[in-house]
Amino acid sequence: MKILVCISNVPDTTTKVSFTENNSKFNTQGVQFIINPYDELALTKALEITEKVGGTVTAINVGLAETEPSIRKALAIGANDAVRINAEPADAYFVAEQIANYAGSLGFDLILTGRESIDYNGGMVSGILASLLNLPSVNVITSIEVDGNTAIMERDIDGGKEKLSCNFPFVASAQKELTEPRIPNMRGIMAARTKPLQVIEAQSSAIGSSTQSFELPAPKGACKMIDASNAGDLIRILNEEAKVI
Ligand SMILES: Cc1cc2nc3c(=O)[nH]c(=O)nc-3n(C[C@H](O)[C@H](O)[C@H](O)COP(=O)(O)OP(=O)(O)OC[C@H]3O[C@@H](n4cnc5c(N)ncnc54)[C@H](O)[C@@H]3O)c2cc1C
Repeated sequence: MKILVCISNVPDTTTKVSFTENNSKFNTQGVQFIINPYDELALTKALEITEKVGGTVTAINVGLAETEPSIRKALAIGANDAVRINAEPADAYFVAEQIANYAGSLGFDLILTGRESIDYNGGMVSGILASLLNLPSVNVITSIEVDGNTAIMERDIDGGKEKLSCNFPFVASAQKELTEPRIPNMRGIMAARTKPLQVIEAQSSAIGSSTQSFELPAPKGACKMIDASNAGDLIRILNEEAKVI
């Protein structure tokens, strides 16, 4: 089985977010970047599948050279090889189009993405990618088992679960419960240094959207501490000030 896993390079979840250029650009100064957590799950699941049924896992990222530590981490976790498409990820369509251009003729059985990137949260790349490749798209899977030429998957639905099947090849996006992320071990980290990381230039493409501005949420109000013995005060504040009861 030949699997492609899409890896987005996102700010660490503890990042203090700020913007530059008239609030139109995320300020990357001093920010630590990581593999998008949903993509780590997709990658780990891809490895679990190939360990069971055989095959290879390729990690792909659309990004500039600074994303390489995340790509090397994907290799350290266990991807066989990696590809970086050398371009700033201008918007979701651009990213999907670049990945589709790469994957189009290479015969991947399965393309896994995360359900969304935790920075821009578009949740769009997976569906656009499937559409560009003319492949079925299965969103937010929580499990996947390979049964010959078919994958059996589960998704959460409101109050329950949906079990579905899809013949390979197809594109699927990973939801939280898919698996537990794998931590790279020393052997993996050493091996990652010599695994192939191919850099290819982006094909020119019209950029459909651009960010006008970002706005941070209003700062949270001060926290009021109420003594545990003073339940009356708590009820009055919730009723009169917070107006939630
Ligand atoms: C410097 C910079 C400038 C940007 N400017 C803009 C802008 O002007 N307008 C705008 O709309 N967006 C902009 N973005 C956001 C960027 O384009 C998005 O990250 C990208 O469009 C993906 O969309 P998303 O975050 O909605 O991904 P989602 O659709 O939420 O991601 C789902 C999954 O797709 C895959 N994926 C996402 N991004 C990548 C990637 N780069 N490489 C490989 N796989 C990926 C991952 O598996 C991810 O889990 C900018 C990003 C950067 C770094």
